[in-house]
Amino acid sequence: MSDLPSTYIIEAQRIYTMDEENQSYCAMLVDNGRIKTLFAASPLLSLPKIEFSSYFIVPGFIDSHTHILLYGLQKIFPDLSDAQSIAEILEIIAAHQSLTQQVGFLFCYNFEPEKIKERRYIYKDEIDRIGFSYPIIIFRADMHSASVNSAALKLLPQSDKFSFQTGILKGNIYEYTYKTFLKFISPDLRLKAFRITLNDALASGITTLVTMLGSEEDSESCELLVENLASFPIEVVPFYQTQNINRVKKLGLKRIGGCILIDGSFGSHTAAIFDNYNDEPHTNGILYLSDQELENFFKAAESEGLQTAVHAIGDRAIDQVVRVWEKIIKSNTYRHRIEHCELLNDTLIQRIKDLGLLVSAQPAFEYFWGGPEKLYAIRLGERWRSTNHLAKLISHGIKVLGGSDAPVTPLNPLLGIKSAVYHPNPEARISILEAMKMFSVNGAYGIFAENRIGALKLNYEANFIVLEKDPLATVDNTVVSVFYRGKKVFTKN
Ligand SMILES: [Zn+2]
Ligand SMILES: [Zn+2]
Repeated sequence: MSDLPSTYIIEAQRIYTMDEENQSYCAMLVDNGRIKTLFAASPLLSLPKIEFSSYFIVPGFIDSHTHILLYGLQKIFPDLSDAQSIAEILEIIAAHQSLTQQVGFLFCYNFEPEKIKERRYIYKDEIDRIGFSYPIIIFRADMHSASVNSAALKLLPQSDKFSFQTGILKGNIYEYTYKTFLKFISPDLRLKAFRITLNDALASGITTLVTMLGSEEDSESCELLVENLASFPIEVVPFYQTQNINRVKKLGLKRIGGCILIDGSFGSHTAAIFDNYNDEPHTNGILYLSDQELENFFKAAESEGLQTAVHAIGDRAIDQVVRVWEKIIKSNTYRHRIEHCELLNDTLIQRIKDLGLLVSAQPAFEYFWGGPEKLYAIRLGERWRSTNHLAKLISHGIKVLGGSDAPVTPLNPLLGIKSAVYHPNPEARISILEAMKMFSVNGAYGIFAENRIGALKLNYEANFIVLEKDPLATVDNTVVSVFYRGKKVFTKN
C-alpha cells in the first residue's frame, strides 16, 4: 500500500511522544518499521523526508475493547435503525435478495420495535410475504430478541407455541437461534467481516485493535482470526470469550475472556446494581455466575498465568468481581481487567486500586447515554453522576484503558477522547492528555505491550498518526494519515 523507503525522516509541527514526560519533537527517523531517533530541530540528514509541517503526530490509537465480527457483520447486512415502518423494513429486506442467495440467509440489525409506526415486532407471515426461501433473522438492537420467517423456524426445535405462531423469539429460544445461525456464517464471510472492521479502524487512527471474539459455542471465529493475524493491516489482539483454558492455550494466547457476562446491560435492566432501578423499582439486575463459578474461572486462569477480562457494568457486578479477586490475589501480576466497569462508588474504586485491577472503559457511553436526560439517568436516577467517573479512577492511580465496544459505539478514538474530556458530569472530566493516554500508553499496558507501542520512543514500533490540529489543544480533530510499522496505511482524501 505504501511506496515509502524503509528508512526516512518524518517532520511535523509537533510530535508528541505520549510517554511519561510527553515531550514534543519536530522530526523522527523511522527505520525498518521502528523509531530510531527523535529530533528537536529539523535534522540535516540526506534521507528521504516526508513533511507534515503544519500537522501533529501522536502514537497510533489503541482501542482496548471492540467486537470485530459483530461490527463487520453489521456493515455487511442491512441496518434497520432508520426504518420508520414494517413496510419500509420489508422493502429493505426485498432489496437484499442477491446477498441472501449468496450467503444462504439474511441477518438484519438494529430493529427497534418502539421506533417504528406500528410499535411492535414483525410477524413471520409478514416476512414470508417477501417470498424468500432462505432464513431471515431480524435482530432487535440490543441483540436480546428477534423476529424470524418460516424458513428460519424450520431449523429450530418446535418447543414453544408463541414463537412458532408469531416468529418472535425471546429468551432461551432466541439464544438458541442466535447461536445456531452464527454457525451458518462461513469462514469467508467471517474474514470479510474482520477486514471491514479493520479498514474502519485504521481510518480512525487505530493501529492496535483489541477485540473480544468467540464464545463457548463459537469455537471457530477466534481460531480463524489467529490464523490470519499476519495478513491484517493493523495489529489485532484477541480476547477469547470462553472459560475453556485449553482452547486458549491451544491458540498460544496469553489472555482469556472479554465480554464474559458477570451481569447484563442498563438498556435491558440486567446490569446488576445494589439499589433498584429507577424506572423498574422492583429489579436490580442479574448476576450470571455464582461466586464459586467465578472463583473457579479466575483461579484456573491465574494458575496458567493468563490475563483475564470480564464484562461487569453495575456496582453489584463489579463488587462480585472485586470480591472474588480479593480471595485469590494480593496484587495483580497478570493485569486482570474489568471491562466497562460503569457504575462505581468510592469504596469499590479504592478496592480496585488496592488490587491493581485495570479498568477498560468506554467514554463514548457517556456521549450517548450520559447526563441528566439520557439512558443512565432514566435507569439510575441521580446515580448517573457516578457512571464512568474517569476523574476519580485516574486520581486514584488506576490504569484506565480506552475503548469503544464497537459496534455499540463507533470505532472512533477521537470521539472517545472528546467524550472523556466533556463528560456530562463536570467532576468526572479528565484532561485531553489523560484521555489521549487511555487510547495509547494505557491501552498498551492493558495488553503487556507498553515496551513496544503506545508511545513514540526509541526502538518502538513506528505506529503513529498525523492529525490536522494540535491534539492537546482541541478535541475536534481529523486523522490525516496513519502509519503502521513504518508503512503508510491510510491517507484521508
Ligand atoms: Zn461487554
Ligand atoms: Zn463488549
